[in-house]
Amino acid sequence: MLLPPRSNIRQLDFDADCDVAIIGAGYTGLSAAKRWAEISPGQKVVVLESSTVGEGTPGRNSGFLIEITLASDANTEQLDRMHECNRLIGATMRQIVDAAKYNSGQCDLRRTGLYRAAAGKDGQRALASYQLFLDAAKLPYETLNREELRQRVGTSFYQTGIYSPDGYLVQPAALIRSLADQLPDSVALFENSPALELRPAKSGWQIRTPAGQVTARKVVVANNAFAKDLGIGRSRVATIYTYAGLSEPLSKTDLSQLGSEEAWGLLPTHRLGSTFRRTSDGRILVRSFYDYESESDNKIVERKLMDCVLRRYPALEHVRWANVWGGATGITANGAPLWGETEPGLYVSVGCNGGGVVKGTLFGQLLADLAHGHDVPDIAALFGTASWMPGEPFRRIGFNVISSLEQRRGRAEV
Ligand SMILES: Cc1cc2nc3c(=O)[nH]c(=O)nc-3n(C[C@H](O)[C@H](O)[C@H](O)COP(=O)(O)OP(=O)(O)OC[C@H]3O[C@@H](n4cnc5c(N)ncnc54)[C@H](O)[C@@H]3O)c2cc1C
Repeated sequence: MLLPPRSNIRQLDFDADCDVAIIGAGYTGLSAAKRWAEISPGQKVVVLESSTVGEGTPGRNSGFLIEITLASDANTEQLDRMHECNRLIGATMRQIVDAAKYNSGQCDLRRTGLYRAAAGKDGQRALASYQLFLDAAKLPYETLNREELRQRVGTSFYQTGIYSPDGYLVQPAALIRSLADQLPDSVALFENSPALELRPAKSGWQIRTPAGQVTARKVVVANNAFAKDLGIGRSRVATIYTYAGLSEPLSKTDLSQLGSEEAWGLLPTHRLGSTFRRTSDGRILVRSFYDYESESDNKIVERKLMDCVLRRYPALEHVRWANVWGGATGITANGAPLWGETEPGLYVSVGCNGGGVVKGTLFGQLLADLAHGHDVPDIAALFGTASWMPGEPFRRIGFNVISSLEQRRGRAEV
């Protein structure tokens, strides 16, 4: 379901004082704001968002919510750590389920479970190793051969797959709007109000926006891919763009090409592979491809995404895109987040590495806990800590080398 434009937007057009300013109204920022208001209901919280809620990356993702450790994090040799990560992520997912009830079904949150499928040899190896993790962690799943997958998702493109019940699908723009709409009155959300500069002040921090300045005792930086524009995580987080296309609603005949289930989501086994979804309103969604630091031309992306569809569903040749978009994610060299109090009164959670709806929600609320001196799980021990990256031009060269090697390995899954 596509949403109407957002109304009742407030832009910051005056100078504001507050107890905490949160930069970025994504999953991380909004969950930090909510938790802050729960712990300190009397404090003034300001959230600054550069775009309007639902228009930026938080609303542009593919809507896969995984309630267990992501495949890329799974480690059979560290099961205690994995169990603790699963416990935290599972509890956060349950909070998202509750929050999604707010806007009377618009979020379309469903526990469909998720497919992971492999087309090539490397993908099959990755799937086998993920299966070992699921076995060791005693998590439920079902293995599927090519024909079984074809019946469920309508394509013989994949050789093998697994189905795990531990996953939801959601309309992401509706979810992020719903989270914003549920913020308590002590939280003032300003949209179209980018933080342009962040600097220490006498008793806290000062943030410059185009039409007003915010003075805050504490600051939470939750703008993910763009933190480095404020001087945060420059040597740890890079900006990567990835793309998605959502088709026009499909006819009954076209829908019959997409297998037996009304709504499903399928993840690739290689990180450069393509993600597919059949949405409950009868469309096909695909997410694929990456660019370093700048976004590709939409016309080229449209064609490349349609090629991904046609490799799996050649009969959908006449189908048109309703919308094609790119979104930015913050990535780190080792896939771990940059999280914690980096300077007195400055709390940072950035570098989502492309899988941050549930994780971001968790990290945001734990950051608010940390800022209040509450006990928090050891995030570095559980999820790692972002490692150092070289500066330019070495970073770009490194990205290009790694991505062309990975593209070769993952090309069967695109
Ligand atoms: C095409 C695509 C598909 C994806 N699919 C999935 C998926 O299926 N499942 C999943 O879990 N993840 C997915 N992701 C990743 C997911 O969107 C992110 O992990 C998640 O949004 C991270 O949340 P966040 O709040 O940490 O950061 P973000 O969502 O990036 O939010 C940061 C916010 O900060 C704002 N901002 C930026 N700069 C400033 C500034 N200077 N001042 C104020 N505000 C600022 C941005 O506008 C944005 O709203 C996908 C991403 C893309 C691009």
